Amino acid sequence: MRGTASNYVGYTIRISDYKDSDCIVTFLTEENVLTFRARGIKKIKSKNRNAISPLTKSEVTLLQMGESLTLSEAKQISAPKLNGDFLLNSCFSFLNELNSKIVDSDETSELYEWLDEAMNFLNQKNDEYLTPCLIYFAQFLRLEGYGLDVDDCVVCGKKNDIVGISLSKGGFLCREHLEFEFEKKEPRFLKIIRFCFRCSPKDMNRVHFEKKECLRCIAYLSEFYEQSAGEKLRSLEYLRLAS
Ligand SMILES: [Zn+2]
Repeated sequence: MRGTASNYVGYTIRISDYKDSDCIVTFLTEENVLTFRARGIKKIKSKNRNAISPLTKSEVTLLQMGESLTLSEAKQISAPKLNGDFLLNSCFSFLNELNSKIVDSDETSELYEWLDEAMNFLNQKNDEYLTPCLIYFAQFLRLEGYGLDVDDCVVCGKKNDIVGISLSKGGFLCREHLEFEFEKKEPRFLKIIRFCFRCSPKDMNRVHFEKKECLRCIAYLSEFYEQSAGEKLRSLEYLRLAS
C-alpha cells in the first residue's frame, strides 16, 4: 500500500541509525522540521545515499502512512564542497555539530534561511569562512532559546553606556551594573556580538570580521552555550587549530 507523496526541499541535519540498513533522518525545511525513515540508506547501492548526508540540500519525496513518513526519493541540490581546506572542513564540522544539537521547537524552521545562506557562502567563497559560522552560531542560540539581550542593559534597560556582557544574566551591561572585571568588553567586541544576533540572513554576504575576532566571539558564545545548555562543542577545537 502506498501512502500520500509530498515533496520538500531542505537540509539533512541529523541521521541516526535505525535497524540494519535504515536511518531516521531529521530534515530542516523552510516551514518545519521533518523526521522520516530512510530505508536501506546505509547500503552502498542506495540511490538516495548521497542526497541524504549532513549539510546537504536536497529535494525529498516522502510517503505518508498514518503518522509516519518514509523516504521515497531524494535528489541532491547542493552538498558541502569539501576541498581539502582544513579550515573550511572545520567550519562544516562546526555547523554540523550545532545542527546535531537542535531541539525542535516552533522557531527551529527559522534556522533554515540562515543555514541556507551560510552554506551558499561557504560553498562559494575562498576564504572568510568564519564570519558566517559566527553569525549562524548566534542565530542558532537565539532560536534555541539562548539568545543574549544585546539591545540594552539586561539589569536596568538603559541603552547607552554599555560596557560589558554578563553570561549569567544573559545580556549587555551598562557601566553602573558591571559587577566583575571579566564582564567588561571593548566596544568592537560588543558591536560584533550585537550585530550577529541582530542581523538578517543576507548580511552574511555583506560583512567580514577578522579570523581572530570571529574565533574569540565563537569561543565566548560556546562558553555561554555550555553554561546555559550544559553542552560542550567539540568541533570548536578544530576551528582553533585550523585558524
Ligand atoms: Zn544597567
